[in-house]
This record gives sequence, structure tokens and C-alpha cells, in this order.
Amino acid sequence: MSETPKINLLNLDKTGLQDYFAQIDEKAFRASQLLKWIYQFGVQDFAEMSNLSKNLREKLTEMAEITPPEIISEHRSHDGTIKWVLRIDEANYIETVFIPEAERGTLCISSQVGCALDCRFCSTAQQGFNRNLTVAEIIGQLWVANQALGCQPRESRVISNVVLMGMGEPLLNFDNVIKAMSLMLDDEAYGLSKRRVTLSTSGVVPAMKRLKEVSDVSLAVSLHAPNDELRNQIVPINRKYPIKELMQACMNYVADEPRRKITFEYVMLEGVNDTKQHAFELARLLKNVPAKVNLIPFNPFPNTSYRCSSQTKIDAFRDVLIAKGLTTITRKTRGGDIDAACGQLAGQVMDKTKRTHRQQDIRSI
Ligand code: SAH
Repeated sequence: MSETPKINLLNLDKTGLQDYFAQIDEKAFRASQLLKWIYQFGVQDFAEMSNLSKNLREKLTEMAEITPPEIISEHRSHDGTIKWVLRIDEANYIETVFIPEAERGTLCISSQVGCALDCRFCSTAQQGFNRNLTVAEIIGQLWVANQALGCQPRESRVISNVVLMGMGEPLLNFDNVIKAMSLMLDDEAYGLSKRRVTLSTSGVVPAMKRLKEVSDVSLAVSLHAPNDELRNQIVPINRKYPIKELMQACMNYVADEPRRKITFEYVMLEGVNDTKQHAFELARLLKNVPAKVNLIPFNPFPNTSYRCSSQTKIDAFRDVLIAKGLTTITRKTRGGDIDAACGQLAGQVMDKTKRTHRQQDIRSI
């Protein structure tokens, strides 16, 4: 008789754990105990979970496991940024980045192996797409980063913020991302505030509506162009969900929450989207939207023909937006020397989409 495979408890959010304990005839409060051991104490070995009965510890050792992705290598930038390459199966690697700042420590996590979208200026896009990450592989990125940083999340807030801005489009891995985010927010797990967890999307409009129904994390939208003609070219999902629909979805996301704002990301590409006219057009577009704008200097990667706008151009662009009353910051490029900056995360992806051989058909998304 073949052995039943062990269940990886990192795949279960609180409700999932409660259901699991019900199935094995244990009380629901065991879920809370487990969450604390796993996420607040970083314990992986059931034998160490001293407030569980001996019988339950043995039962769990036999039937379950706590298995995060494995760190293959660690790269440290001179600016303090750390990138970890994680192995998630025989063929695939993903990347997770920690960005320390004076007031906070941000972990940038991946949601998919590669990406099915084809944003022209993003190196992850060039890798093609392999598969969605599991809940364990998403929340496991926080787990291993906490371990690698040598911190107990319960005692310190070394990782104070999480951004889903690594590899992949989080809203195309909806269910797993929602479960992983619920563990980030759960007081019995990581207990981060919803303002400190940010999901970034290229604009999957129907999923933005669903997100509003089940979660209230902060939202960032990769806009990158102020009109459909240009956005169709550089963010191809725009052909399916054009700017007007995207803006409606954004308004819907912050409706009935007067103080909330959406962050609009705008990568500065020389000679493409960086003129003052573009800035005026962007200001008009966002006139009635509760918005913050993050200008992102383009980070180059091999074989790209794009270049980053000059600092003068970026400053002039920013000044137009500020003059029009938009809160605007230029994102500092961090970890560029270790290829850890926005859009440089590549991992190693077995491309099932054969991106190099055919154009992505966005109608299938
Ligand atoms: N798929 C999601 C999240 C991942 S990308 C999204 O599109 O929002 C995180 C941010 O980095 C996005 O705004 C993305 O457009 C931007 N980005 C991608 N490639 C970049 C590059 N080469 N330089 C700077 N920013 C880049």
C-alpha cells in the first residue's frame, strides 16, 4: 500500500486549518495554536509545539508537514537590499526581495512562476509563464525571509510591509493569493495591518471587483501610460480591459472609504511615455481619482531596447503632476546591483507558454 502524502500546513489559512482539525477529530482552537507556532515562532517541527498533546504532536508528525520553499542563494546589495532565489520544484525558481528602510522593512514577494502577461518593459514577462504558486509557496516566502533575517515575527517587525510586486500577476492566481494574504493579516499569524500589505496589478478588472468583495488590502495599479493607444502597446492586457474600465474598477475599490488612495505605478521609459504632455494627460486622467503616483525609473535587463528617462525628464514629469495636485514620488531604485529591482526578477522558469516562439494571446486571459 502506498503511503498517503503528507499535507503541507502552509497551504491552509485559518479556516483551512480549522477544517483540517475537524476532519482529524481535533478541536478548532488547535488551528490558532498551530498558526502561532508556525508564523509567530517560526517553528517547523511538531515535536517542539509544547502546548499540543503528545498524541496530537505524533499524529501531525505522521500526517502533516510544514515545508516552505528552499533558499538556493542569497544576494546582498551594497544598499542593504537582499534577494533570495528560492527553489520551488525541480525545474523552477522564484525570487523574493527584502528592502530595508529607516522606518520599515518591505518584503517583495512573487505570486506566479513567470508571468502570462507580456508587459514590454518587464524582464519577468520575457521568461514566459509556468504555473501559479501555491499558498505554501507564497506565504512560505515570508516564512523563509523571517528565518533568513534571523527574526521572530512575534517579537520584531523586521518585515513590516509586504508588497505583491515580485514575479507574476497576483490577480491571476486569485484564490491562493487571497489565502496567503489572509495569513499575512491574521493576528494569530503575521498580523500585518491591511495598509501594510499591497497588491499590485496590471489591471485585471473583473478580479479587482472580486478582490473588493473579499479583502481590503492596499491596491497598486501598474498604469504606465495615460491613454489606451500607448497602454495597448506597453501593457497588452489593456486591449482587454481598457483604461476607462480600469478607472471604474479603481473607483469601485475605494468607494465608501474616503481616506483610501490607490497607488498608480508609472515606469519612466525614455521617449515612450515621459513627456510633459504625457504628464498633463495623466493628471487629467487621475483628476477625480483618489490617487498617489509612484514614478519608477526603468530598470534595464539584458536584451531590452528600452532605456530609462533622464533624471531631468523624471523631475519635470513629477513637477507637472505635483503642480496639478497629485501626490507623486519617484521610487528609489534599490538592489539594482543584484538584479533585484522592479522588473528585474527573473528566477528560472520552465516556460510552458513558449513565449519565445509565439506571441501571447491576451484574449485567453
Ligand atoms: N504583475 C503585477 C505585479 C508585478 S510588477 C503588476 O503588473 O502590477 C511590479 C511593478 O514593477 C509593476 O508596476 C511593473 O510594471 C513594474 N516594472 C516591471 N518591469 C519594470 C522595469 N524593468 N523597471 C521598472 N519597473 C518595472
